[in-house]
This record gives sequence, C-alpha cells and structure tokens, in this order.
Amino acid sequence: MTEITNYRCDICGEVYLDQETADQCEAFHVRPEQLDSMMFGSIAKTKIPYPGFLIMKMVDGAVVKYAYNDILNVPKQDEGEFNVPVENSDNSVGCGCDEVDE
Ligand SMILES: [Zn+2]
Repeated sequence: MTEITNYRCDICGEVYLDQETADQCEAFHVRPEQLDSMMFGSIAKTKIPYPGFLIMKMVDGAVVKYAYNDILNVPKQDEGEFNVPVENSDNSVGCGCDEVDE
C-alpha cells in the first residue's frame, strides 16, 4: 500500500499532490479589502432588491466589479414587505442600475 499525501488550498479548496503548487494557489488569490460602491436596478427593471453590481477594492489595489448572480438564502419576510421574486432570479440584471457610493 502506498500512502498519498494531498495538499488543499485553504482559499479555493483545490487539492494538489504537492505542497508547492498548493502554496502557489493560495498566494495567487487576491481578497477584497472593502466595498467601494454598489449599483441597484429599479423595481421596474430588475425586480430584485439586492445590488446588481458591487465594486470592490482589492488588497493589491485593483478595483473589481462583481455582478449579481443568485439569491442563496431567502430571508423570512413579514406580510406586506417586498417579496423577493426567487423564481425570477436569473442573470438578467445588467441595465438600469444606479451607482451608490458606500
Ligand atoms: Zn486556491
């Protein structure tokens, strides 16, 4: 029997057979530093209450724009509050967003 040791990148979870590559993978990732701004779509256009885009400042100085993709956990809502249209949570957010500085 041969025992095989694997190394997992603690950031993305990829598994490698050698520690050097796993270390390189961990060093490759750049984390966000802070939210710079966000853009919302109107109720008429997107029907999604969450930001359509987030502009993030990264720790290396880059500024990166992220787009809304999906709602992973819908909060419980009291009657009368705005209902999140989960069945309509596609990737169609892309226009009509107004930028809001954080
Ligand atoms: Zn990784």
